Amino acid sequence: MKKILLIDDSQTILDALKEAIYACIDSTSSSFEILTATSFTQASKIIRREHENIYAAVVDLNLPDCKSGQAVLLTSAHHIPTIVLTSVDDASVKALLLKKDVLDYTKKDSFNNITYVASFVKKILRNYDITALVVDDSLVFRSAFKRDLEKLRINVLEATDGIEALAIMNDPENNVSLILTDYNMPNMDGIELTIELRKKYNKDSLSIIALSTSENINVLSDFIKEGANDFISKPHKFEELNVRINSNLDILDLFQTTKDLANKDFLTGSYNRRYFFEASEAILDKNRRKDQEVVVATLDIDHFKNVNDTYGHDVGDIAIQAIATLLNASLRSSDLVSRFGGEEYCILLEDISREDTSILFEKIRQNFEDNVITTNDIHLKYTVSLGVAYGKSIDINALIKVSDNALYEAKDTGRNKVVIHNI
Ligand code: GH3
Ligand code: MG
Ligand code: MG
Repeated sequence: MKKILLIDDSQTILDALKEAIYACIDSTSSSFEILTATSFTQASKIIRREHENIYAAVVDLNLPDCKSGQAVLLTSAHHIPTIVLTSVDDASVKALLLKKDVLDYTKKDSFNNITYVASFVKKILRNYDITALVVDDSLVFRSAFKRDLEKLRINVLEATDGIEALAIMNDPENNVSLILTDYNMPNMDGIELTIELRKKYNKDSLSIIALSTSENINVLSDFIKEGANDFISKPHKFEELNVRINSNLDILDLFQTTKDLANKDFLTGSYNRRYFFEASEAILDKNRRKDQEVVVATLDIDHFKNVNDTYGHDVGDIAIQAIATLLNASLRSSDLVSRFGGEEYCILLEDISREDTSILFEKIRQNFEDNVITTNDIHLKYTVSLGVAYGKSIDINALIKVSDNALYEAKDTGRNKVVIHNI
């Protein structure tokens, strides 16, 4: 579990910070725990025990039982990304601390600053899952950007020119969402690279930041015209990089949230029916071209009305939420899983044999039968029926129809079973 450590001798500040962090980070999407310490001694104990699990710390400079700044040196020594929240307003202290593992230095003078710190903690947690690609033929500049991006907890890949950068982008495993690119490079320059990247990636999935020196400042407008999102001048200052990178990542997050609102179901977080139809097209096209079989399966809870009638709608909702969790435990991340409505799910799989299809869906059926959901002293069990269509990658509606018929047969012949129809 990700932990966030707050160190401050004022309980009021700790409470306000806690509340602001809970308000700003959605605990259903990323689970985390907040640890608090009101003294240096207490903080030292926690850090000794937990430092590997602490993803971010908010630290006061002055604590009753240590010299000013000692707690910051301690979190820094353990490479914990630290935000200083203090009433001390001293530019030289600030400059000194930003050289350590301190990402930001904020004054304690208003409630807005508490909210700001909470949103910054959220950004740090988010950054652990971000990968950036730094493209520059100068090792010195590459290393300087890498160092500061890693300080923000962003994972960094490196390329020395546009050609190398494109090769890295072509491997989907790398999952790059942010590119920082120089202009002048051998083989392919930064603008050519931007043009190539924008043929494949929109601004809603990849942020491109141009790096410019004072000599080539005039190429910036060309960068922006070709689709760069922003620019940073070289050599850079950590604080500028921090603000620009995080605000560009915030914009990507916003695009993602908007897409999720349109594509995902509110109760379960699973893809909705509309998205299933949209995303199935590319998968079916690909398998049609390769003349490979696909699988469409429809899953429905048995006698679900009884669950609602016996335990109420809220428990029914929890039972529905468990479907995605159980399915994801057996399926690949590339399988398309969607809530079709009520307690019915539809799944599209590729690259699977007829024999493995039987084994997989029998295992899924068994997992549901074995599963017990415990909530408020209620121990709930339910079974599911599965109708599966296996065969040629034809039209999605036709595949769903076959899987629906198989589901009716499973329900008609006793429920808690898998029926597979070949196409
Ligand atoms: P069968 O084995 O034939 O599928 O029986 P069943 O009781 O599951 O029958 P049916 O599929 O017709 O019932 C679905 C029920 O699911 C009816 C509806 O009230 C309930 N339901 C639909 N959406 C939701 C939801 O979002 N939350 C909850 N709690 N219940 C829902
Ligand atoms: Mg049902
Ligand atoms: Mg149903």
